[in-house]
Amino acid sequence: MVLRSSPHESCFFDDDWSNIQSVRENCKKINAVCVGITEVDWATWLTGLTGNPFAEFITRLQKDGILSREVISTGFTQYDRLIAWAENIPGKKCVFFDWDYTLSMASGVLSVNPQEYGCTFQDMLYYYVGGEERFNRLTAMFTRLRQLDVDLYILTNNPVCGCKYPLINLDAYGEPRLRGLPKMTGADFFGQLLQGLGIPADHLLASGRNTKYNQNKARLLKEKFKLFC
Ligand SMILES: [Mg+2]
Repeated sequence: MVLRSSPHESCFFDDDWSNIQSVRENCKKINAVCVGITEVDWATWLTGLTGNPFAEFITRLQKDGILSREVISTGFTQYDRLIAWAENIPGKKCVFFDWDYTLSMASGVLSVNPQEYGCTFQDMLYYYVGGEERFNRLTAMFTRLRQLDVDLYILTNNPVCGCKYPLINLDAYGEPRLRGLPKMTGADFFGQLLQGLGIPADHLLASGRNTKYNQNKARLLKEKFKLFC
């Protein structure tokens, strides 16, 4: 039997330069890559979401002046580069993805029970990742990375992911809050939303303001993934 030392290599993808800099300074072994913000115009964005009931719901809220139109970004696009990296390194590896503007092409999530609005969590997930085509590209990449001994994580400062309390929202249509989610915590909601990506619930890492990491992703990485830092 041949023993090989595990290099414990890892990558971290985020759109926010302050996170990249902090991870580079504090976790020198992690390859921190900035995905940048490259804006996508709204019409182009919607073409990938034709027939998606959650996109139609959001569009209605915008027409009614309840939601403003947000900036959409290309997010993570380094599919081939990441697979090539994993193919070249033996042993266990980790990849950490930010959520907002990295896997998601939008910023923030609308925490509603999609079933109350004729949608599913999968429709919502397609919406945030930019449609079925990008979803398939991401999940195919995740499958390939797992075959290459890569553990996948989402590391996010998204306040919904870090929320341990039942969500309370103002209702978009004037009721006390948006329908659904009466007992669901933010963390559970986020787990439901991201279930389709096949990343296990305990691989959704919350580092937001309401957690002990207080938006410091490097601090979480150093504490939980010491060998990779
Ligand atoms: Mg982000």
